[in-house]
Amino acid sequence: MRLVLLGPPGAGKGTQAARISATWQIPHISTGDMLRAAVASGSELGKKVNEIISKGHLVPDDVIGEVVERRLSEEDARRGFLLDGFPRTLPQVGILDRGLAKQGTSLDRVIFLQLDDETAVTRILGRKEDGNGERADDAEETVRERLRVYHTQTAPVANEYGSRGLLAKIDGSRTIDAVFEQIKAALEGIASTGSDDPSESGPGGGR
Ligand code: ADP
Repeated sequence: MRLVLLGPPGAGKGTQAARISATWQIPHISTGDMLRAAVASGSELGKKVNEIISKGHLVPDDVIGEVVERRLSEEDARRGFLLDGFPRTLPQVGILDRGLAKQGTSLDRVIFLQLDDETAVTRILGRKEDGNGERADDAEETVRERLRVYHTQTAPVANEYGSRGLLAKIDGSRTIDAVFEQIKAALEGIASTGSDDPSESGPGGGR
């Protein structure tokens, strides 16, 4: 199962990614997490990345492209993966296309978690107030900038996958469980659990 998870900041990508990854046994590859790890390491690259992220802007396509290509060539990603936060621009779509073509594989589905801007802002600022997964780029001004960048740079990515017939649109405004149910329904048919054991029948197995 080779999946991309797409959606604005605050749509719940991280939460759903954890469930998808556990259910289909595919690694959750989050470019945001990888970049934050680079920042935390204090490396030269991390310092540059921090300046960009804290403004709500995107790191250059070639930089993130190389990080993702390297990650996708690791052993655990060979049988499937869930990409979260990549591709985020049309050039990144091209980078992923070429990387997968080299492996002789392709995407199975793009899960598009939809949420309106005001709900997104409310959620992210609420999460900050709870001290729950607080992030340096969660100040309201920066959140609004991330949303602006999302609409100009990432919305075209959804259109592109839509025209390829890969897009599954999911209403991200519902409860965590309800959103996951929609995702399961959207993946039915292509779903293999990633397990080699044929006695396992897949998500919610035994039905
Ligand atoms: P969110 O989607 O909630 O804004 P992420 O954790 O996916 O957060 O990303 C946080 C930040 O990391 C982004 O605002 C951006 O600066 C950087 N980033 C993550 N993925 C990419 C990418 N594919 N290309 C460029 N920058 C990225």
